[in-house]
Amino acid sequence: MFRETKDILDRLAKGEHLPASAWQSLLEDESEEAAAYAKALAREVTDRCFGRRVYLRGLIEFTSYCRQNCYYCGLRSGNTRAERFRLTEEEILACCRHGYEQGLRTFVLQGGEDPFFTEDKICRLISRIREMYPEAAVTLSIGEWPKASYQRFFEAGADRYLLRHETANEAHYRRLHPAKQRLETRKRCLYDLKDIGFQVGAGMMIGSPGQTVSCLAEDFLFLDELRPHMVGIGPFIHHRDTPFRDEPNGSTERTYYCLSLLRLLLPEVLLPATTALGTLVPGGRERGIEAGCNVIMPAISPAEARAKYLLYDGKVTAEQGGSSGIHELEASLAAIGYRIDSSRGDAPAWHRRKGVTT
Ligand code: SAM
Ligand code: SF4
Repeated sequence: MFRETKDILDRLAKGEHLPASAWQSLLEDESEEAAAYAKALAREVTDRCFGRRVYLRGLIEFTSYCRQNCYYCGLRSGNTRAERFRLTEEEILACCRHGYEQGLRTFVLQGGEDPFFTEDKICRLISRIREMYPEAAVTLSIGEWPKASYQRFFEAGADRYLLRHETANEAHYRRLHPAKQRLETRKRCLYDLKDIGFQVGAGMMIGSPGQTVSCLAEDFLFLDELRPHMVGIGPFIHHRDTPFRDEPNGSTERTYYCLSLLRLLLPEVLLPATTALGTLVPGGRERGIEAGCNVIMPAISPAEARAKYLLYDGKVTAEQGGSSGIHELEASLAAIGYRIDSSRGDAPAWHRRKGVTT
């Protein structure tokens, strides 16, 4: 089997667009040999495109209220046991200030779809951050909005938008979400964001309930078609107050393998080693970097907020973006031969489109 896998991996590394059957065959191979070969190729590609640099993003989890009811997520509206919080505008700006002092030059505003934060409030927040830190990038991760709202966010100064597609398979999407949440809407949002000019991030959980090899193959085909600037993937981890409480967690080994495949599919993609990876095994994020990731997103929200922003059980809520957290990260990256790059870390393709050189 490995011989066939190796042949497909070589074709992928040369830039060939693979058909569904080849993705299926790659993903069916669960051998260590396949993972090791994919990782070696992925590291070569990452080193060639980015060197041994890792970009940091300051993650501000600013609201845990959500009108959506994704069955996998601890913040879903149906979870009456969740402790909810929302940060004030001043608290969010204070997070940016602390992050900036630690050298962070991208702020990611992430939250549930909270009706309190209207389009006007979000625009005001973006404008204030841009006024204070004109050279920093603002990334939003606040779910589904009409195209006109995305346009306003962009005009207010937001640069990037993270919206995982979660799964590209229709039946699987229905298994993970209530009927009123539609895969079609997710995809429409992603294309709208791209059309407006955002650097766009899609992605999926690995091992979410009902995910089959052919679902994952569809995810890779979709990512090949969308060609996002960023991709967020991490293992599914169950949460005790969701319908998926008894479902097994996703495999970290599978996640590393998928990260390497993604690096080969989209050589210049910004690929975070997610908190979920770091939650399941110690050193998980570093192994993610070795598999092809080039971004880490330390949380810089206040401790009380981090403790309540519980998407899944056991989430790492320790301080990550303060000076000790950053030093620890620096040391753990140095131990595997990487260093922090403190620039904004835009997607190379976006730079070329804008005619900017780094
Ligand atoms: N509400 C926004 C959205 O859904 O795009 C942003 C916040 S949401 C919590 C960010 C991501 O967390 C989701 O896209 C989902 O993939 C991930 N997530 C939610 N529940 C999870 C779980 N149980 N295990 C792993 N990842 C999870
Ligand atoms: Fe809300 Fe996002 Fe969680 Fe879905 S994944 S319930 S949209 S916070």
